Amino acid sequence: MDSPEQRIKIAVQKTGRLTDHSVELLERCGLTLTKSKDQLIYYGENMPIDLLLVRDDDIPGLVSEDICDLGIVGLNVVEEKRLNLEAGGNAGLFKQIYELDFGHCRLALAAPEGTEYSGPESLEKSRIATSYIGILSNYLNKNNIDAETVYFSGAVEIAPKLGRADFICDLVSTGSTLKANGLTEVEVLLESEAVVIQTQAPLGADKQALVDKILQRLDGVLQVRESKYIMLHAPRSGNDEKVAVHAVCRETVFWETLENLKAAGASSLLVLPVEKMLA
Ligand code: ATP
Ligand code: ZN
Repeated sequence: MDSPEQRIKIAVQKTGRLTDHSVELLERCGLTLTKSKDQLIYYGENMPIDLLLVRDDDIPGLVSEDICDLGIVGLNVVEEKRLNLEAGGNAGLFKQIYELDFGHCRLALAAPEGTEYSGPESLEKSRIATSYIGILSNYLNKNNIDAETVYFSGAVEIAPKLGRADFICDLVSTGSTLKANGLTEVEVLLESEAVVIQTQAPLGADKQALVDKILQRLDGVLQVRESKYIMLHAPRSGNDEKVAVHAVCRETVFWETLENLKAAGASSLLVLPVEKMLA
């Protein structure tokens, strides 16, 4: 058994929107996990990698304090923590941000329908409710706007109805929550998705090699997600001979594409999902 210091600790969200995807991605990288009874740690069986299941807000702190080597968390949470730490005089806390292409959302400003909005200057002297004080304040500073930030830990979208704010600054994906609360999106502050962050502390050669391997596998997993392997017989120009063509397509292959290929003389068309890819 490896000593605990030699095992890689990855912080992932315990229960929430990122949990299933985060665990699934690591499993697709070949990691087999035993889930402990209390479900606070998942132990890696076939690699010296363990997952710590925590609240997403704690993940950047765990990584910056070197309690975990890696973390999987929304860029929105990373940015908020980074700005808060920088405001406290700390800088350069996470390394190697790697985008995972899930958990897509945006941190946006919204206002009750009918509110006049003609750009950031419309925020002047307004009250804006948010859980993202750091990102919002940074945005207001950059735009030289004097506005009041009102902290809400959750249910930010009800702040205007409560008379506590004129605008809100919150995460949006489909916009249905905004709509249900009579709000319209007016500005996007940050486009977010789940990312991998790594501690600034040196990991040691063995651990770093394993981290690199995992990142390379993640790359492979992400690349093949939509990829298809296409096989077909294509006619040579000038004679009746056919050649076998094998190709990888990085996106969904539509029936129309196959029909067009067939119309152009291709036969025996086959489209297969790609399971693994190593460039
Ligand atoms: P925790 O209990 O871990 O603090 P939470 O309630 O803060 O959970 P979730 O709602 O599970 O967090 O969201 C986790 C992350 O999912 C967000 O920080 C964000 O990066 C991403 N996300 C994607 N779409 C949305 C959305 N529509 N609303 C909120 N978060 C979203
Ligand atoms: Zn949270």
